Amino acid sequence: MKLRRLLIALAAMGIATMSHAATPVLVIHGGAGVIKREMSPAKEKAVRAALTQALQNGYAQLKAGKPALDAVTAAITVLEDDPNFNAGKGAVFTHDGKNELDAAIMDGFTLKAGAIAGVHRVKNPILLARAVMDKSSHVMLVGDGAEAFAKDVGIELVDPSYFRTEERWQQLQKALKEDAGRKPHADVETAKHFGTVGAVALDAQGRLAAGTSTGGMTDKRWGRVGDSPIIGAGTYANSGCAVSGTGWGEYYIRTVAAHEICMRVTLMRVPLKRAAAEVINQEIPSMGGNGGAIALDASGNVSMPFNTDGMYRGWMGVDGVAHVALYGDEDDGTGDPLPASAASTAP
Ligand code: ASP
Repeated sequence: MKLRRLLIALAAMGIATMSHAATPVLVIHGGAGVIKREMSPAKEKAVRAALTQALQNGYAQLKAGKPALDAVTAAITVLEDDPNFNAGKGAVFTHDGKNELDAAIMDGFTLKAGAIAGVHRVKNPILLARAVMDKSSHVMLVGDGAEAFAKDVGIELVDPSYFRTEERWQQLQKALKEDAGRKPHADVETAKHFGTVGAVALDAQGRLAAGTSTGGMTDKRWGRVGDSPIIGAGTYANSGCAVSGTGWGEYYIRTVAAHEICMRVTLMRVPLKRAAAEVINQEIPSMGGNGGAIALDASGNVSMPFNTDGMYRGWMGVDGVAHVALYGDEDDGTGDPLPASAASTAP
């Protein structure tokens, strides 16, 4: 009887006690903040193609009976390798003209997690986060130490110039001009461009996983680390819920956004869409932040709320159809195509 009660208590907290058969689902994002009028047809085509490829590669893992973790890493590596996203190649630049990469991954079934921050030479940061989880006794490694570990476990390192794209360089130049005259500690009024990538997956055994990878925010200084690699802030999974965020990271850390959504779902039994909308579209904006997230529960429900003009996003279920959307007025097939207002109308 005692054991039974313990198992129920663990399940209620979202802590897995056993796996169950499920219909696999994969959900991805390529960052909130996309603005329609700034998109060229060529860029839009490339972004849609990359999101579709990421869904296909990730879902192939689930179809082959692989764990949700493998689907998350497969999808994210596609987006890290694509220069159109703020992760891996094409990451944004720091104030000092460097690319500093952060990533995290979490297994909802075991609650194991791996994270890295502030690396300059790791081609696929999500693979290093995964290695931290699988091959070390730690959860988070930063900077030179993380790169030394990468070398030890055979993760591919590249010259820092690999990550550079002209578009990101120009974004930094623009930000530096806007910076001129502003005091070093002054806050920016609104952060508009994000572009972090993330994935959440549910596998055939009912296990959930979440992962996120980013270059952070353009013009970041002083070793700033955002929410993406912070377990509970930008990335979290338990046995009932998985979340990856994208947005103004400081607010996601302060609201412990990903964990907060999952606790509402697993402990308070709030429906996924409502829980995600409350945190992303009510709590974060009420504090002055903005952004979006993808969320998935153990029944395969999908939610992709955001309060920016758009969010690169997509999902795939058992029919193998890639549902991809970029803008706020575009139906993404989850039943909540409209940003911000979703919070008040979510079931
Ligand atoms: N959340 C990321 C950060 O603050 C930025 C993004 O979503 O693009 O580092």
